[in-house]
Amino acid sequence: MSGAMNREGRPTRPVEASEAGRAVTATVTGNRGLTVEEPLIFEQDNPGAIGVDLPEPPHVRSRLGAVRPRGRIGLPSLSEPQVVRHYTRLSTRNMGIDTTMYPLGSCTMKHNPRLNEKMARLPGFADLHPMQPMDTVQGALELIDQLAHWLKALTGMPAVAMTPAAGAHGELCGMMAIRSALEDRNDPRRRVLVPESAHGTNPATAAALGYTVDSIPADARGRVDLEAFKAKLGPDVAAIMLTNPNTCGLFESDIVAIAEAVHEVGAFFYCDGANFNAIVGRVRPGDLGIDAMHINLHKTFSTPHGGGGPGAGPVVLSEALAPFAPVPAVVHGPDGRLRLVEHAEGDFAKSFGRMKGFHGQMGMFVRALTYILSHGADGLRQASSDAVLNANYLLARLKDVMTPSFDGPCMHEALFDDRFLKDTGVSTLDFAKAMIDEGFHPMTMYFPLVVHGAMLFEPTESESKETLDAFADTMRALVERAKSGDAGYFQGAPYHTPRRRLDETGAARNPVLRWQPDMPAREAAE
Ligand SMILES: *Cc1c(COP(=O)(O)O)cnc(C)c1O
Repeated sequence: MSGAMNREGRPTRPVEASEAGRAVTATVTGNRGLTVEEPLIFEQDNPGAIGVDLPEPPHVRSRLGAVRPRGRIGLPSLSEPQVVRHYTRLSTRNMGIDTTMYPLGSCTMKHNPRLNEKMARLPGFADLHPMQPMDTVQGALELIDQLAHWLKALTGMPAVAMTPAAGAHGELCGMMAIRSALEDRNDPRRRVLVPESAHGTNPATAAALGYTVDSIPADARGRVDLEAFKAKLGPDVAAIMLTNPNTCGLFESDIVAIAEAVHEVGAFFYCDGANFNAIVGRVRPGDLGIDAMHINLHKTFSTPHGGGGPGAGPVVLSEALAPFAPVPAVVHGPDGRLRLVEHAEGDFAKSFGRMKGFHGQMGMFVRALTYILSHGADGLRQASSDAVLNANYLLARLKDVMTPSFDGPCMHEALFDDRFLKDTGVSTLDFAKAMIDEGFHPMTMYFPLVVHGAMLFEPTESESKETLDAFADTMRALVERAKSGDAGYFQGAPYHTPRRRLDETGAARNPVLRWQPDMPAREAAE
């Protein structure tokens, strides 16, 4: 690791003196106001300095047998205020939807209404244990059942599997249901068609299940090339995995023809529903001929995400796929009580089995149902309309200075590419880093792969016109700066973050996941 520079020759340390023309006074502590330089919590260890004073436990016979601890387990000792400060500071070091606009395309980083949080913290939901007797959790089962009802109603689909824990997990669930349905009719097929613009999880899911991935090119309008797609169809095609609206932020206008052609050859239509936020209350995927689609509750229905979870990815299923859905599932018993079917038996005899320990992500279910019920049908429709309006507003405000990848209006995301940066010496990545200094989380970069130097903006419906204008004004000023020949400024950015350009390649190739007592601190942090 190269000290103060990362692999691309960009500085990793906070700006010190007058770099790039900006005077920053060095402090005694290395702190910069609220940005405090502090060691890792393990390095702050002060043996014996514990924050709580517990009585000696009475003598009890250990039941841990051979696995009882033999020495210190290496947790650091600190006072309570040290711990509180450490974690509070850490929580402010990343951008988040609660601190700034976060237009990360395809991620739908929308505001999480605090009402959701209030509901999720109700002790009757928050304090449940998944192994409690069914009689004592009727309310929780009813909540899962109600959410399932609304997800089916909003998508126009007859069934839903609630257990998948994220979008990618939902893809796996839907594709396992498809594989089971094909095996059930003794028709194993080998090939899955995936458009070139797909999210990486689509081909990964198909490959993980043993399918050959066959990619479909996009046409000049950024949609599936219908003729190329039809030429790929055949009796060995198990499914198509298509995102709609697609990852270029465009509605697949031939989607009904695609569904019909897929069904004609006996294959299934898997839809990646991560972009459902653009069409909720306007289009029901079931009406388009879709057989399975995951819904990222953590995107469309606002349950928080961004820090690696938690998520929830229920999958709506067509009549043909419903029998293969995973267990456990909530069902209505003859006595009017709800229960969980835990095994592949009875009505669930054809279920492909279990893909999660318990019934799914309960906290996310509470938040998503709160969001759905508090918005109502009109509110959900308004939200998707506003999401599309906001993206088009950004597109309109930026298209004369940046380069839109496709003509015409977009859905919920505005896609630009790096042509406007040509010959400036500024890359998409450099440009994004300068946005961080301006207090905005960057857009999605270099995705979708079909567009060179892609910049995918998804403002979501949460942003006000004032915020969108502040953002657009900032982007316009940055474009002007890039075009004025000030490439050095962008190459040094960000200047104001706790760390600057980290060695991301090194971190991915050689991850340091465990702190060791003799590890140089800088190496662990950078
Ligand atoms: C987010 C996303 C996924 C994966 O969802 P996770 O919940 O992150 O697993 C899949 N496809 C698209 C288009 C996405 O945007």
